[in-house]
Parts: sequence; structure tokens; C-alpha cells
Amino acid sequence: MEEQNQATNTPPKSKQLPPDLKPFVYDYTLEDWQDWIAAAGEAKFRAGQIFEWLHVKRVSSFEEMTNLPKSLRDKLEAGFQFVTLTEIAKYQSTDGTVKFLFELADKNAIETVIMKHSYGNSVCVTTQVGCRIGCTFCASTLGGLKRDLRPGEIIAQVIKAQKMLDDSGERVSSIVIMGIGEPFENYDATMKFLRVMTHPKGLNIGQRHITVSTSGIVPNIYKFADENMQVNLAISIHAPNDALRSKLMPVNRRFPFADLIAACKYYIEKTGRRITFEYALMGGVNDQAEHAEELAQVLSGMPLSHVNLIPVNFVAERNFVRSTKNDIFNFQRILQNHKVNATIRREQGSDIAAACGQLRAKHLELKK
Ligand code: SF4
Repeated sequence: MEEQNQATNTPPKSKQLPPDLKPFVYDYTLEDWQDWIAAAGEAKFRAGQIFEWLHVKRVSSFEEMTNLPKSLRDKLEAGFQFVTLTEIAKYQSTDGTVKFLFELADKNAIETVIMKHSYGNSVCVTTQVGCRIGCTFCASTLGGLKRDLRPGEIIAQVIKAQKMLDDSGERVSSIVIMGIGEPFENYDATMKFLRVMTHPKGLNIGQRHITVSTSGIVPNIYKFADENMQVNLAISIHAPNDALRSKLMPVNRRFPFADLIAACKYYIEKTGRRITFEYALMGGVNDQAEHAEELAQVLSGMPLSHVNLIPVNFVAERNFVRSTKNDIFNFQRILQNHKVNATIRREQGSDIAAACGQLRAKHLELKK
């Protein structure tokens, strides 16, 4: 069944939350609140007040929205679900990385990570419960896809992270949509997330401080290019050709390498922005000099591109080993010799299983 889905371009059929579950308060954009307020027969300015309580003051209940009349708070209580995520674990790494394990209303678990950088705090969010993309080096894909997250479930991850940072007077300065799941298979929720996160009356995170990463869902790369956003795009490429990429990433059978590269070129042409290509280095698999040479050729037509080399994390259920230091630096050197910008990602949170899906996988194991 999975193979059949992968062979077509049809969007995934994932289970959704029970339809009778009330909307989450974080599901709504300011414009959604304006519509709701109008339908509820309330004064227009109340929409802005609600949005501010949720995204700027970050309260935890309707009761705390003290400038709203009790009758309006009662309507909100009746119409919405306030608790979106429940923290079930929080791990702090010696390097400052914090990893949350959150429980959702349907008892599924997701992960969110805060990473400390010299330039600020970055939050890595999850967009789906599990993932159906099937990258062979990834722990997130092991249980398959359970369901898409609702917009509010993605937004609430950043709100929770910001609430933790509020205690020390810090703020979320950037967001990476690189947690569990394929954001371009939950496209509409991801776009709503971006609109809310960057709203000047909310957290107001600059578009250029947000990066969305896709495994290569080609039609939605075109769609994203046409959104006219300044949000950064990262492509998980991980191989320099069709044959090897199909082995490592079954999604390449749905959207072949040449189509992916054509979509990337369209994106660069349309937006004038560069693309970051994520390349997970796996010992003896895709990390040799010939792979670097081939990748450099592929990217030569994309002068703005940048390659982020990621020494792969060990996944117990998979057979990949880490590349040697020599191979990692040699790979980078070859790209640079061809004038392709390449950096090596610094590992963070390795003592708390911070790589995508590792914590959730552990949690599922414990539940069993
Ligand atoms: S790397 Fe990303 S797209 Fe690939 S299986 Fe893991 S979560 Fe899904």
C-alpha cells in the first residue's frame, strides 16, 4: 500500500483529529478571529484583543483574558479547545538544547526542540505525527504517518517554547520547520503557521528568520515559489543522482531528481532567493569524492545555492555509520573547489537524542 502511494503523486490520506473536536485557539489567524467575532455579533476590536492575549501575552486560559466581558469568554470557552499540547517530558542538553515531548489531544506524541545559537534561539517544529516519506536514515519514519497536525498544533509548539524563554527574558528569534513530518504534505497548515508566526501583531518573527525544509514534494515547491514569501527554503537532497536518491529516499520515485532540480531552478528564478540543500553524509554510501563531484555539477546551474553537510546520526534500527572526519572535510573541499558554498552542521543535543524522531521513537518503545 505504501509503495502504491509512493508511486503516485496523490496527496497522502492521513487520519485527522476527530471532526467533533472543537477548534484549537491557536488554529485561528487574526483574520479568522475577525470573522468569528463578526459572526458572534461582538465588537470588531475584540478580535485583536484575543489574538494579543494568545500570541503576545501568552495566557493559558480564557479566564485570564481580563479585558473581555464574561459573556464573550463564555462563548470562547464553549467554542474552542484551549489546551493544545501537554508537556510530558523536557530534556536539557549540556549545550543548552532543550527538547520537549508533547502529548496531543488524541494522545499521540510529538517533539519540539529549542536550539541555542550565538545569534539567538531557534525552534524546530514538527508538522505531522510520524512521516510517510520513508527516508532510510530517519527515525521519524519508523512508525509511518499517523496524521497531519492542525495549524494550531504547530503554532502552539512555538508558543510553548517562547513561554519557557519568557522566564529568562529571551525570545524565539528563528524557526526551522525541520522536525518530524513533511511540511509540504501538510501544506495548508504550514502556510497558516507561517502567516501567524510572522504577523506583526503576534510573535512577529521575520520571514527571513524562518526556514521550511522539504524532502522534494515538487508540485508544492512550485506553489511555494508563487506564495511571494521571504521564508527560506531547504531541500533534503542527500544524493547527487536519481539512482542513489531513490535508494535513500523513496520520495524520489514519486518526484524524480530531474523534476526536483527543475523545481528548484524555478524557485530561484521566481524568488531571487537561494536554496539550502541538506545533505546527510552516510559513511561509504554517499560521502565519497565522486558523489561530491557529481553534486557540484548538479548545483553549478544554481549559483545561489548552499549545501549544508550533516554527518548522519546513528539510528539503531538502520545500518548507517557515520562518515569519517576525513571524508566529511574532503566532501566539503570538493564542493568549495567548484565554488559551491558548503558548511558542516554543528551537532547539537546529542546527549538528549535531539535528532529528528529519536525521542518520540523512544517514547513509543516505552509505551509498548
Ligand atoms: S527525514 Fe523528514 S521527510 Fe524524511 S522520513 Fe524523516 S521526517 Fe520524513
